[in-house]
Amino acid sequence: MRRLFYPGELTPEIRITGGDAHHLARVMRAQLGDVHVVAGADGRAARMTVMAVARDAVTLRLDSYVEDDAPARAEVILVQALLKGEKTDFVVQKAVELGAAALHPIVTEHVVVRYDAKKAAAKTARWQKISDEAAKQCGRSSLMHVAPVGSIDSILADAALFGRADTAVIFCYEGERMQSVRSVLRAVTAARIVLIVGAEGGFSPSEAARLSAAGTQPVSLGRRILRAETAALAALTVVQYELGNLDV
Ligand code: SAH
Repeated sequence: MRRLFYPGELTPEIRITGGDAHHLARVMRAQLGDVHVVAGADGRAARMTVMAVARDAVTLRLDSYVEDDAPARAEVILVQALLKGEKTDFVVQKAVELGAAALHPIVTEHVVVRYDAKKAAAKTARWQKISDEAAKQCGRSSLMHVAPVGSIDSILADAALFGRADTAVIFCYEGERMQSVRSVLRAVTAARIVLIVGAEGGFSPSEAARLSAAGTQPVSLGRRILRAETAALAALTVVQYELGNLDV
């Protein structure tokens, strides 16, 4: 069943308004008595019955809370260098399906696309929309946050991502010859994993050196050079597997 998202806390009765009401009333053709699963801002979800449908508002009554979909055992955050064309859109959508908690797009030296501040903000809004749609489609009970476009420096300076004792930062580096993703993941006990993946052109030697000096763990995903979008999906998948987040 597709989930609806409600930006507030779930109460015995909620009113959905604006674009979401339009979607529910016109696109999903909500009828009185229909039951939908609605996820609230705190991530809890409930079965709710449609009590009233108006042009710009749909009222639902809370029937019962539902068990969360497999709660993530550890959180995974993807830091992805911007990709060409629609490839970032693709990675955003797939990261949601694979259960990433957040995605931080960054500009690196070898990123080809260049966005001014206005375009970057519009892109972030678009990615958040793609993320929210994907969350509905795959039945997640929490949304994947898409952060504003940053840089390696902003990521390194972000106290929420770096330097926390509960976080391991794994940097997928095509030039890594020593550490395999398997050996690193087997040793990780952190509650949060931040995964960093480069753009089509990869990382410059100075970026790789800065990331390593900052305490990230460079890992190889094997001897083959993967396309950036393949690397992001492969890395997310093996991390989620190792954390038990693909279990039923
Ligand atoms: N143009 C670069 C390759 C970049 S691949 C070159 O020819 O060397 C794009 C991104 O995918 C990389 O920055 C890295 O984050 C990831 N990646 C691809 N293959 C990888 C591998 N074998 N091991 C680790 N990371 C890899």
